[in-house]
Amino acid sequence: MLNIKTLVLGEIAANCYIITDTATGESAVIDPGSFTSRLNSLLEDVGYDKIKYVLLTHAHFDHMEGVNEIIKRTDKKAKVAVGREDIPLLSDSMKNLAFMFSMRTIDLVKCDIPLDDNDIIKLGDSEITVITTPGHTKGSVCFLCGDCLFTGDTLFAGSAGRTDFPGGSFEQLKKSLSKLAALKGDYKVYPGHDRTTTLQRERESNYYITGEDYDSIY
Ligand SMILES: [Zn+2]
Repeated sequence: MLNIKTLVLGEIAANCYIITDTATGESAVIDPGSFTSRLNSLLEDVGYDKIKYVLLTHAHFDHMEGVNEIIKRTDKKAKVAVGREDIPLLSDSMKNLAFMFSMRTIDLVKCDIPLDDNDIIKLGDSEITVITTPGHTKGSVCFLCGDCLFTGDTLFAGSAGRTDFPGGSFEQLKKSLSKLAALKGDYKVYPGHDRTTTLQRERESNYYITGEDYDSIY
């Protein structure tokens, strides 16, 4: 069982999720877009010694500016995991868009665990499966845990991520969305921005998945 707390962080309002394996209390933080007193107090409630991972759905600056402070407060024991193909973005404020959006650079984030498709991350009694979903960035990944699917900027409620940034590919994004749609069963979807949804709702109505062209919608 997984307990999930949601915060909206940073200047582009990215969703940050604190996920906790209820049996053991072991926890991970997905996409900490900044470090705030609210995030800190939630992490103090969890216990910094229980935070095993910071998991990044991709390495755009608005999803990772809180990473280093969290790692510091765990006495550097928590590990940072990011899609292998996104590692170059961690140290490049042009590629991670900090410069494009905010005219600034951000501190380097170090990857401890490069993620590949089907990797399993153990969080207490829970298992998190990595699904590589290139398109928004080359190294975008989704995290599957129990009946929850964390989709970053790959899949949104009724929409999908932009592909016009460096490394983006609309063709790849469409393939990645088909890969998610082909998962068996239904999942609660926790995206990188905006509201939650379900995979079934998106299978039925998200035109990036249904493939209906614009002419047939309007
Ligand atoms: Zn992004």
